[in-house]
Amino acid sequence: MSRIRSKDTSPEKRVRSFLHRAGFRFRLHVKNLPGSPDIVLPKHRTAIFVHGCYWHRHSGCKFAYTPKTRVDFWQDKFEQNVVRDKKKEALLLEAGWAVLTVWECETREDEKLTQVLHSLIDKQGE
Ligand SMILES: [Zn+2]
Repeated sequence: MSRIRSKDTSPEKRVRSFLHRAGFRFRLHVKNLPGSPDIVLPKHRTAIFVHGCYWHRHSGCKFAYTPKTRVDFWQDKFEQNVVRDKKKEALLLEAGWAVLTVWECETREDEKLTQVLHSLIDKQGE
Protein backbone atom coordinates (compact mmCIF):
# COMPACT_ATOMS: atom_id res chain seq x y z
CA MET A 1 0.00 0.00 0.00
CA SER A 2 2.53 2.56 -1.05
CA ARG A 3 0.01 4.76 -2.80
CA ILE A 4 -1.72 6.14 0.25
CA ARG A 5 -1.77 9.90 0.04
CA SER A 6 -0.14 11.79 2.82
CA LYS A 7 -2.44 14.33 4.43
CA ASP A 8 0.19 16.93 5.13
CA THR A 9 1.71 17.16 1.71
CA SER A 10 3.83 20.26 1.43
CA PRO A 11 2.81 23.02 -1.01
CA GLU A 12 5.85 22.30 -3.13
CA LYS A 13 5.00 18.62 -3.39
CA ARG A 14 1.46 19.51 -4.43
CA VAL A 15 2.80 21.63 -7.25
CA ARG A 16 5.25 18.94 -8.27
CA SER A 17 2.63 16.26 -8.36
CA PHE A 18 0.35 18.48 -10.43
CA LEU A 19 3.11 19.17 -12.97
CA HIS A 20 3.96 15.52 -13.06
CA ARG A 21 0.36 14.54 -13.80
CA ALA A 22 0.22 17.22 -16.50
CA GLY A 23 3.22 15.60 -18.15
CA PHE A 24 5.85 18.22 -17.43
CA ARG A 25 9.49 17.39 -17.00
CA PHE A 26 11.16 19.37 -14.26
CA ARG A 27 14.17 19.59 -12.03
CA LEU A 28 14.31 20.53 -8.38
CA HIS A 29 16.32 23.13 -6.48
CA VAL A 30 18.62 23.96 -9.32
CA LYS A 31 21.71 25.32 -7.63
CA ASN A 32 23.37 26.84 -10.65
CA LEU A 33 20.48 29.27 -11.22
CA PRO A 34 20.05 32.47 -9.20
CA GLY A 35 18.17 31.74 -5.99
CA SER A 36 18.17 27.97 -6.71
CA PRO A 37 14.48 27.90 -7.73
CA ASP A 38 12.26 25.23 -6.17
CA ILE A 39 11.14 23.82 -9.49
CA VAL A 40 12.65 24.38 -12.92
CA LEU A 41 11.10 23.50 -16.27
CA PRO A 42 14.17 23.55 -18.52
CA LYS A 43 12.23 23.05 -21.74
CA HIS A 44 10.05 26.05 -20.99
CA ARG A 45 12.89 28.04 -19.49
CA THR A 46 10.67 28.65 -16.52
CA ALA A 47 11.55 28.78 -12.86
CA ILE A 48 8.88 28.24 -10.24
CA PHE A 49 9.06 29.38 -6.65
CA VAL A 50 6.58 27.95 -4.19
CA HIS A 51 6.27 30.55 -1.46
CA GLY A 52 4.76 30.37 1.98
CA CYS A 53 2.27 33.23 2.28
CA TYR A 54 3.46 34.23 5.73
CA TRP A 55 7.23 34.42 5.27
CA HIS A 56 7.15 35.74 1.76
CA ARG A 57 4.28 38.18 2.36
CA HIS A 58 1.60 37.22 -0.10
CA SER A 59 0.00 40.61 -0.58
CA GLY A 60 -3.64 40.79 0.43
CA CYS A 61 -3.56 37.22 1.75
CA LYS A 62 -5.05 36.39 5.13
CA PHE A 63 -2.07 34.19 5.94
CA ALA A 64 0.35 37.09 5.62
CA TYR A 65 -0.52 38.70 8.94
CA THR A 66 1.95 40.53 11.16
CA PRO A 67 2.50 39.44 14.77
CA LYS A 68 1.21 41.91 17.35
CA THR A 69 4.43 42.07 19.34
CA ARG A 70 7.91 43.12 18.24
CA VAL A 71 6.31 44.61 15.15
CA ASP A 72 9.45 46.41 13.95
CA PHE A 73 11.52 43.26 14.24
CA TRP A 74 9.08 41.25 12.16
CA GLN A 75 8.53 43.92 9.58
CA ASP A 76 12.26 44.14 9.11
CA LYS A 77 12.53 40.41 8.68
CA PHE A 78 9.64 40.23 6.24
CA GLU A 79 11.05 43.11 4.26
CA GLN A 80 14.35 41.28 3.89
CA ASN A 81 12.58 38.21 2.54
CA VAL A 82 10.62 40.23 0.01
CA VAL A 83 13.72 42.09 -1.15
CA ARG A 84 15.62 38.82 -1.52
CA ASP A 85 12.76 37.30 -3.56
CA LYS A 86 12.64 40.30 -5.87
CA LYS A 87 16.39 40.12 -6.40
CA LYS A 88 16.28 36.42 -7.32
CA GLU A 89 13.47 37.07 -9.74
CA ALA A 90 15.31 39.98 -11.37
CA LEU A 91 18.45 37.88 -11.83
CA LEU A 92 16.49 35.06 -13.43
CA LEU A 93 14.64 37.40 -15.76
CA GLU A 94 17.93 38.95 -16.74
CA ALA A 95 19.25 35.50 -17.60
CA GLY A 96 16.27 34.95 -19.88
CA TRP A 97 14.10 32.84 -17.61
CA ALA A 98 10.41 33.19 -16.97
CA VAL A 99 9.57 33.25 -13.30
CA LEU A 100 6.36 32.02 -11.75
CA THR A 101 5.46 32.33 -8.10
CA VAL A 102 2.92 29.91 -6.71
CA TRP A 103 1.62 30.89 -3.28
CA GLU A 104 0.99 28.31 -0.63
CA CYS A 105 -2.68 29.25 -0.34
CA GLU A 106 -3.08 28.63 -4.08
CA THR A 107 -1.93 25.05 -3.70
CA ARG A 108 -4.58 24.19 -1.14
CA GLU A 109 -7.37 23.75 -3.65
CA ASP A 110 -6.88 21.62 -6.73
CA GLU A 111 -9.06 23.93 -8.74
CA LYS A 112 -7.00 27.00 -7.89
CA LEU A 113 -3.74 25.21 -8.54
CA THR A 114 -5.00 24.02 -11.89
CA GLN A 115 -5.91 27.59 -12.82
CA VAL A 116 -2.56 29.01 -11.78
CA LEU A 117 -0.52 26.41 -13.58
CA HIS A 118 -2.67 26.44 -16.68
CA SER A 119 -2.03 30.13 -17.10
CA LEU A 120 1.66 29.30 -17.04
CA ILE A 121 1.27 26.53 -19.56
CA ASP A 122 -0.82 28.72 -21.89
CA LYS A 123 1.78 31.45 -21.80
CA GLN A 124 4.57 29.02 -22.57
CA GLY A 125 2.70 27.46 -25.44
CA GLU A 126 2.61 30.64 -27.50
ZN1 LIG B 1 -1.63 33.45 0.23
